[in-house]
Amino acid sequence: MKRMKGVVITGPGKLEISDNCPLPDKIVPTGALIKPLIWSPCTSDAHLCATGCSSLPYLIGKAVGHEMCGVITEIGNDVHDFKVGDRVIVCSVMPIWRSLEAQDGHANNRQDNMYAGIDYPDRGGSFVESYYIRDADMNLAKIPEDVTLEQAVMIPDMMCTAFEGMRQLGTGFGESIAVIGIGPVGLMVIRAAVLSGAGRVFGIGSRKICFDVAREYGATDLIDYHEKDYGKKIIALNCGPVDGVVIAGGGDDSLEIALSIVKRGGTVVNLSAHFSNDPFKFSSSVFGFGYGGKTIKGIGCGGGRLWMSRMAALVENKRVDPSLLITHRFHGMESIPEAMELFLNHDRSLIKPVIYND
Ligand code: ZN
Repeated sequence: MKRMKGVVITGPGKLEISDNCPLPDKIVPTGALIKPLIWSPCTSDAHLCATGCSSLPYLIGKAVGHEMCGVITEIGNDVHDFKVGDRVIVCSVMPIWRSLEAQDGHANNRQDNMYAGIDYPDRGGSFVESYYIRDADMNLAKIPEDVTLEQAVMIPDMMCTAFEGMRQLGTGFGESIAVIGIGPVGLMVIRAAVLSGAGRVFGIGSRKICFDVAREYGATDLIDYHEKDYGKKIIALNCGPVDGVVIAGGGDDSLEIALSIVKRGGTVVNLSAHFSNDPFKFSSSVFGFGYGGKTIKGIGCGGGRLWMSRMAALVENKRVDPSLLITHRFHGMESIPEAMELFLNHDRSLIKPVIYND
C-alpha cells in the first residue's frame, strides 16, 4: 500500500493534514483513481470532527470528506464509460450495485463508502490527493461542459440528498410543503419542491442569508423557528395542515412540529442525521393517536451515476443553480481545516464552503 496526503481527524475538534493515508498499489478492474479538483466539507464531517468520531470511532486517523469532484487519472480495464482525463462528480455514498440489496431496489443499504461502517483498510474519505473508487461506471457521473466545478460539487450530497427526499415525499401539483431547517440541504429541498410542482412552500429557518436564498429558490413563506408556536402559524397561513413536510435541520422538536403540521394521511421525510442515541420523541396526539395515517420516512442521500447525472441535467438546463449555496471559497488542501472551523464555530455567515485543489 502506498501512502499519500489527506485530511484526517485526530481527536475531538482536531483536524490535521496527514502523510499516512493509504492508496492501494493496484486498483480493481472496475475501479478508478480520481485527482480532486474541488472539495466541500459538510455538516456530517464537522460532526465527526467535533466529537472526535464518537459515533464511528474507526474513522479516527482516516481521511474525511465525501463531497468532491475531480479528474480521472487511472482507470481499470473493466471500466467502459469513462476514460483518463474525464471530469467527474464522485458519488458520496457509493452503493454496491452488485449486491442483493440493489436487486431488492435499495442499493443504498449496501455501501462501500467509509461512513457505512465497513472498515476497508484501503479506503477513506475524499479529502485526499488521490481518491480510489471501486465501481467507476456505476458511481461516477460526467460533469457537463456548461456546469461549473462549484455547481458540480453541490451535486453528490446537497442535491442528491434533497431531491431524493422530495422524490420519496412524492409531491403532487399545487400541494403545500413545509421544509424545516434551511441550511444547504433544506434550501435544495425548497428548489426540489418547486420543481416538483408544489404550490405553497414554507421555508423554516432563522438566518437572513438562508432566507434570501430560499426566496430565490421559490419559497413562498419564510418562517423563523424561534417564533413561539410557529407550527400553528403555518397551519393558519395555509388554512389547514400542509400536504408534506421535509425535515433538514431545526431543533430537537422538529419531528413533533412536522407531525403536528402535516395533514392526516400525509408524509414527513426526515433528512437530518441524528448521531446521538437519544430516542425520537413526539406526542401521540400529533401522530393521530397512532391511527392518523401519517408516515415518517428516514431518508439518506441518493447515490449512483444515474441519479447524479439527472441532478447534473437539472443544473445544465438551468432548472437550479446550486452554487447559490456557496458562501466561502478556499484554495489548497491545507485550508480544509480552516473551512471546517466555520462549521465548528457555527459561523452564521456560512451556508457551504468549497476548497479548490490548486
Ligand atoms: Zn455531505
